[in-house]
Amino acid sequence: MKILVINSGSSSIKYKLFDMEKNQTDASGLMERIGEKKGLLTHKIRNKKGDRSVNVIKCTVSNHKEGLEFIANLLADSKNGVIRNKSEITAVGHRVVHGGETFQKTTVINDKVIEAINKNTPLAPLHNPPNLAGIDVAKIIFPKSIQVAVFDTAFHHSMPEKAYIYALPYELYEKKRVRRYGFHGTSHAYISDAAAKYMGGSPENFSLITIHLGNGASMAAVKNGKSIDTTMGMTPLEGLVMGSRSGDIDPAIPFYLADYLGMSFAEIDVLLNKKSGLKGICGSNDMREVIEKKNNHNSKATLALDIYTYRIKKYIGAYFAAMGSLDAVVFTAGIGENSADVRELSCHGLKALGIELDSHKNSMSFDNIMEISTKNSPVKILVVPTNEELKIAMETMEMICTGYYKTQT
Ligand code: ADP
Repeated sequence: MKILVINSGSSSIKYKLFDMEKNQTDASGLMERIGEKKGLLTHKIRNKKGDRSVNVIKCTVSNHKEGLEFIANLLADSKNGVIRNKSEITAVGHRVVHGGETFQKTTVINDKVIEAINKNTPLAPLHNPPNLAGIDVAKIIFPKSIQVAVFDTAFHHSMPEKAYIYALPYELYEKKRVRRYGFHGTSHAYISDAAAKYMGGSPENFSLITIHLGNGASMAAVKNGKSIDTTMGMTPLEGLVMGSRSGDIDPAIPFYLADYLGMSFAEIDVLLNKKSGLKGICGSNDMREVIEKKNNHNSKATLALDIYTYRIKKYIGAYFAAMGSLDAVVFTAGIGENSADVRELSCHGLKALGIELDSHKNSMSFDNIMEISTKNSPVKILVVPTNEELKIAMETMEMICTGYYKTQT
């Protein structure tokens, strides 16, 4: 069974084509700068001999429909394609950022589902509209494929009220659904499963703290396979320090910025989402640059890294307390998988909690699951490469195999 996974952004389409029986990725890629003159597609395929090849293709496409058509034609190309025709794709799995309270699990897409995703747009004005654009064009280009939505928020629906209700007038929740939703759910779910498997059990047997550190960053307390708390909130701005987002701040700061500096809502929004975080402190939002600057004794970069990892450490303590037990701390995503410095600083001084990092193991390079705690550490520290696309493909396949889609469409 071939499943195409699509992550449609405002000016980009990220995709991966899986052959689920063979357990392999046939193609993947990223189309960037949709709507611009200098569009670019990085297209990777696995050829018939099993070798991988990468093509960087200049392409000018004016919208998502043209973009996905271009990708579909490459996938089905008679010479270098990986499928014979488009109808070979059984299903398309779409990453949808905000499912609000409507969607607590993966869902087959029909008109009602599209309408409901649209209704959740005020909760994710930057993400849900391009996700919907991807769904609209995939329905046209792959008319025979089952379309499935996998929500970033769904995994966190197991949180108890005390974790997701803000201490605001309760009617804001009742009438306007103002609450914590949490994001990166697909990644937290995937690495919880993978970590549990590595430790020889199923997620129900463990208490885990999962730490996703990419450009956006979030943590989750995952007890017995269920998310019981997470750092991102109603929007992805809350919680950890990120590349250019502030994470937690005093909620009164925006009033101060408006009253005393005369900033507009729009300016404050840009300040908190695009000009803060690592970038706000030391001028770089890329962790590699921050670490390079720190190694060159740049004091702002050192401070940025300190603030970044101190926030992670505080949440490790908080989530240990929330769960009452802890089996493993699990790092993932671009920074979590690659930065030994960030992992070291985040776990430093946590021996009292039973978290002991082995600096030697931590500094080694690897491309699979890696245990970086000391032999005697009561709590394991793991690095687990995330694979959100594979998780989306697996959830999509589950929908098809259980025949659930027949009752939904
Ligand atoms: P996204 O959220 O866009 O998917 P990624 O998971 O790819 O992001 O993570 C991007 C981040 O990972 C960037 O801050 C980048 O600097 C960081 N990163 C990638 N490789 C390394 C590395 N070797 N060392 C430190 N940070 C890294």
